[in-house]
Amino acid sequence: MPFTPDEIADCVLEAFGKLPNKAKPRPTENGRREWVPLAGIVATRKGKVLGCLSLATGMKCLPHVHMPKCQGKILHDCHAEVLAIRAFNHLLLQSVSALIDELNRNGTIRGNSVLLACRTENTVNSLHPQPFAIQDDIELHMYCSEAPCGDASMELTMDSQHDATPWAAPESSEEPPLALNGRGHFSQLGVVRRKPGRADAPPTHSKSCTDKLAMKQCTSLLSAQTFIFISPRNAYLKSIVLPVSQINNKSMTRAFSASGRMAPILTPLDHFKPSGFSFRPFTIMPTKREFQHSRRVAPADEKLVPSNLCAVRAGKLDELIVNGSIQGFKKGDIRSVSRLSRHKMKCAAIEAAFWYVGDDDSRPRCPDLFLTKDSWKTYRKFKKDDAFKLRRKLKDQVKDKALKGWIVNDGDDDWPQEEEEEEEANPDNGDDEKYEDDYDHEDDRRNAAFDTEFAGDSDDLVFMKKSVPTKVEDVEGFL
Ligand SMILES: [Zn+2]
Repeated sequence: MPFTPDEIADCVLEAFGKLPNKAKPRPTENGRREWVPLAGIVATRKGKVLGCLSLATGMKCLPHVHMPKCQGKILHDCHAEVLAIRAFNHLLLQSVSALIDELNRNGTIRGNSVLLACRTENTVNSLHPQPFAIQDDIELHMYCSEAPCGDASMELTMDSQHDATPWAAPESSEEPPLALNGRGHFSQLGVVRRKPGRADAPPTHSKSCTDKLAMKQCTSLLSAQTFIFISPRNAYLKSIVLPVSQINNKSMTRAFSASGRMAPILTPLDHFKPSGFSFRPFTIMPTKREFQHSRRVAPADEKLVPSNLCAVRAGKLDELIVNGSIQGFKKGDIRSVSRLSRHKMKCAAIEAAFWYVGDDDSRPRCPDLFLTKDSWKTYRKFKKDDAFKLRRKLKDQVKDKALKGWIVNDGDDDWPQEEEEEEEANPDNGDDEKYEDDYDHEDDRRNAAFDTEFAGDSDDLVFMKKSVPTKVEDVEGFL
């Protein structure tokens, strides 16, 4: 008997239940209850639920104007779905590192990890060069406690009594209405939307979760960092499980399916099949389960407060994130940098690539996959490396034919990669206050020193390393 959608939901809800209380919404000082969306990725094998691979809560997003200040160290998009996918990629990188470690120690990999298998020499080629793949009998599912923001939830938003007001921010007349802002322009359906923000704050350039999930039906769940090592072939979502009340069939069909706005991409994607890519639409499955911190658990007359806390768990990774950084550390302190940030994920990928290739590039498999040293100098160069050429081309096709109006959230791409091993160790000497004031993201020497210090430590260090204040200063403009 195959698993049910309720089992997928239960798997994520139970994993959330095991988080410490400080990771969960709690009453505000004036006694009002908080709500937050929850998302998680679950693996199944042969009809049985294997477990929750990653989960995240969150609903905040950084305005585009703040991108240049991030330097790869602040998360831009903290919606639960996006964080859960980033955390899943972090878990995959950990698995890759463990397999490579075994390869280097024993000269061979004797078995597979729980999730990954080594691809055989005769299936690896220049178009499909990754050494690892998610095992053939594993299927991936996502549970979300709320309908994804953007096109898939437009009708729900319109129908909702206490959430029906269109966001007041007028669309700028200077800006062509390519990616529509948040919940404005109800009349336009099937379009790419940016994440909603406060009406009085600058806009975000982060695409809605609907649009990001629609894109992942083409590119797979893999990020650029994991795509270096893992074939996209088995890395697609099989289903998304949502509470019954969060499913509007018309919206879901329009937003995600081959009979909706994704239709024009079907034929073009055929050309990418030799590389492990294809259009893999997920099914939407209803569950009767409700998340205890959803906004629907309160009586209609109780106004809930959105939580600004994100909890993330995946394998050994445990983080509490506020305003895109680890809670409890000051802005500019490297300990505030999430392991899901561009900076840390790129560091982890580079480290694994070094281990895999060795000193002399002598390992023969998939030599084209590993990036040239020059491409590690900045994040922009990393993303532009030839290793991602096909993936970029595929994304361009999807944007051109199906997700028209997709805008790039640029401005946080040109930070340099620190040569961490060349930095002197410079442990915390207690002058965080001073550092916070001068933090300009130009001189990353101190940050690199912290990275060196923490590189070999357990992930547990990140989780509540020191006592966490109940109130964390808001980063200006973080919505
Ligand atoms: Zn969202």
